[in-house]
Amino acid sequence: METARTNQTIELLQAMIRNRCVNEGTEASGQEIRNAELLASYLEGVGLDTEMYHAAPGRSTLAVKIAGTDPNAPSLCLNGHTDVVPVNADGWERDPFGGELVDGEVWGRGAVDMLNLTSSMAVAMRHFAETGFRPKGDLIFLAVADEESGSAYGARWMAEHHPELMATTYVLTENGGLHSGAPDNRNVTMRVGEKGVAWRRLTLRGTPGHGSMPFQSNNALVKAAGVVQRLADYRPAAKIHELWGNEVERMQLDEDHKSVLLDPTAIDEFLDNLPLGRGGPYLHACTHTTFSTNVVSSQTKTNVIPDTVTIDVDIRSMPGEGPDEIQAHLDEALGDLAAEVEVEALMNDRASISQTGTPLWDSLQRAINRPFPGLTMTPGLSVGFTDARVHRDLGSIAYGAGLMSPTLTAAEFGSRFHGHNERIDTESLALTTQLWIDTITDLMG
Ligand SMILES: [Zn+2]
Repeated sequence: METARTNQTIELLQAMIRNRCVNEGTEASGQEIRNAELLASYLEGVGLDTEMYHAAPGRSTLAVKIAGTDPNAPSLCLNGHTDVVPVNADGWERDPFGGELVDGEVWGRGAVDMLNLTSSMAVAMRHFAETGFRPKGDLIFLAVADEESGSAYGARWMAEHHPELMATTYVLTENGGLHSGAPDNRNVTMRVGEKGVAWRRLTLRGTPGHGSMPFQSNNALVKAAGVVQRLADYRPAAKIHELWGNEVERMQLDEDHKSVLLDPTAIDEFLDNLPLGRGGPYLHACTHTTFSTNVVSSQTKTNVIPDTVTIDVDIRSMPGEGPDEIQAHLDEALGDLAAEVEVEALMNDRASISQTGTPLWDSLQRAINRPFPGLTMTPGLSVGFTDARVHRDLGSIAYGAGLMSPTLTAAEFGSRFHGHNERIDTESLALTTQLWIDTITDLMG
């Protein structure tokens, strides 16, 4: 049975990868309807009722519900997104949309983010339907669009139009289940919180003129260059969150190194001196609000001095920081240039954290101990955003979960995330599929 189920997860994952629902941040991209329909036909095959919601043409979210027997019992939503980020195929050893199964690994964009989880969730739902499982509370599966560009055509749209499907007591979504720790003290991380997202568009203005006479010109692009440099140079103070303390505790480091990583006055110097390839970007992101200037837009005419330039800055905030704190960071970073910069907020989501010690947490722990007796589950903070934040806004307790094979390291997993050669081993697919089944049976059965 378990092998048959794993094969279903593998085949669904391959088919979803091949549908190449690439989200480029435009309304017309993604076209997640293809993955939503694929999953709908898979689930309708065992008599489940499916519902399709269209936030925009082709931007479709699938909902499947198994009604609970007790209207007062806690409900749970399995939330999986169906879109993927673009690829640069030149960096891949295999076709990023081939969905090939090679030496026990499924290759392709979405194999770890998060079509692997979405496909395993669908297989768990089908298992529950086939076995006639009657959960105490409502059990919902959402295959949502547009997670990768901020959820406007996915979870955010669903939260606005169908909060009854989103505001469940519990939510399981991406992503957790990586093993770490010393051989005699192994643990597995579940993401109980994530940093905030405060994308900003900065606009610089100048005076248009002919490119043949740049002397004393008021060139918006030259000003923008100064802004970009100051943001790159900006070093906000470290902030140590208690979830970071958990993560450091799990690391295989001596006590001196651990105390440096937990000391906001010492960590920056340590990170400055850390050799490349030793996880510096991640360690820094866990302990700082970060600023990444990723898009600059100007005119495209080579002989015209630009009068308007915009810079999109990807800002990820530490817990406790809102729009006022973000503006204070920008003012400090830009100094005397701040007066020249118009700031527009593109995203304003604060960091969100769910408590542990819930019945869902305990059920997850028991489910993990079936394949891995003695393995301890620890809560972590995600530096990226997921749909969990949208559910948390509605009051849900949301965890980024999953269960990977013990050989898959956090560094290797991280390099595949939005990276080249994204792939997942079939043992991780089997473990995660079983995790949903065992957790939900334990919690809601
Ligand atoms: Zn994702």
